[in-house]
Amino acid sequence: MTTTEAGAKPITDPAELDAVDELAGHRARFVGASSPIVYFDGNSLGRPLVATAQRLSKFVTDEWGDRLIRGWDERWMDLPTSLGDRLGSVLLGAAGGQTAIGDSTTVWLYKLMRAAVDHQQRTDSARTEIVIDTDNFPTDRYLAEGIAAERGLTLRWIEPDSTGGVTPELLSAAVGEATALVVLCHVAYKSAFLADGPALTRIAHDAGALVLWDLCHSAGSVPVDLDGWDADLAVGCTYKYLNGGPGSPAFGYVAARLHGKLTQPIQGWMGARDPFAMGPRYEPAAGIRGFISGTPAIVGMLAMQDMLDLIEEAGIDAVRAKSLALTSYTLELSDAWLTPLGVTVLSPRDGAQRGGHVTLGHPRSREVVKALWKLGVIPDYREPGGMRIGLSPLSTSFDEVHEGLAQVRALLSHSGPISG
Ligand SMILES: *Cc1c(COP(=O)(O)O)cnc(C)c1O
Repeated sequence: MTTTEAGAKPITDPAELDAVDELAGHRARFVGASSPIVYFDGNSLGRPLVATAQRLSKFVTDEWGDRLIRGWDERWMDLPTSLGDRLGSVLLGAAGGQTAIGDSTTVWLYKLMRAAVDHQQRTDSARTEIVIDTDNFPTDRYLAEGIAAERGLTLRWIEPDSTGGVTPELLSAAVGEATALVVLCHVAYKSAFLADGPALTRIAHDAGALVLWDLCHSAGSVPVDLDGWDADLAVGCTYKYLNGGPGSPAFGYVAARLHGKLTQPIQGWMGARDPFAMGPRYEPAAGIRGFISGTPAIVGMLAMQDMLDLIEEAGIDAVRAKSLALTSYTLELSDAWLTPLGVTVLSPRDGAQRGGHVTLGHPRSREVVKALWKLGVIPDYREPGGMRIGLSPLSTSFDEVHEGLAQVRALLSHSGPISG
């Protein structure tokens, strides 16, 4: 059934979509789910789960408060790798011993990019280039710039279509005998373009390069299969689709075949073979532990465990199916309501090439987003002229999408200055 309004194309009733959504019941498990806020930013900072409040409080009283420093021996020393293994198995297609949690994505990127280019330079000094795209996230680009300057390397830029991303054709044209490392996002933060993980990894490997995948916008929303792709390195956020809370530590993945070959540049005591020997010289721990630097942020690793439990219960394939249904519905509403008002779609229309968000373009996007925030509708503004509609599959309803886009339509429908 569809609803029709005067002068508008018929659109699908959101109540119908919510009624048949098998994951709809999970929404009530998030804090604030019953508030009238329309939240389109779960891809920047996920909502907390209700269970998390209890987990945090119990941690203060029972673990930190009761176990005190004994907690390190009992559980915390191993948490970066035990939780890393769990994240690897539930979400990343990574066998145990290759994933660890700690630091920020930025710091992981630095450590793994440096480790990769140094290794390549040691084996073949003619590999002097880092390949990266101009639409990659700023921190990835800035780090590549800094590392290139530090190590006397060159950046080779791929310039993708702004509504798309890095395709096999673009990557094939950029890599060669001089490539040391390729740095790619699985889901582009602006366009939501979903890169072909296995195909791009193969192209880089055929050229003799290593690949580092940034999974910030895919972990928890799009299935990933790092071992299956034959990936070398990966990093990702836990405060986006993994609802770990502001500043929760990131994850890093190093394929087992590279252990013992790659050495990371931040040689801290926590990544040493025997931290409490406190010896005179640094000797890295074996395996992924050798990529840890300082004391891990244990408190920051609590909330993500609730989201991991929930995603495991729902199943990542069901999460991806709902994500696609949400982005498709956003496109349906945008085509019916917003295209006549001058809005363009800056994300791929083909679902197979689209991650978990949709970016809409309009010359007045900045004003519109400002007004929407005042109305309790929370998308992101992204230069140039993009309204980014982030749809966190387990906490977003179809009704929320309908309500939010109706507000965009209302704001764009009257001429003159927009204010909320
Ligand atoms: C969010 C995001 C980051 C964030 O890095 P931080 O160190 O957590 O600030 C990095 N890369 C991508 C692609 C992102 O989307």
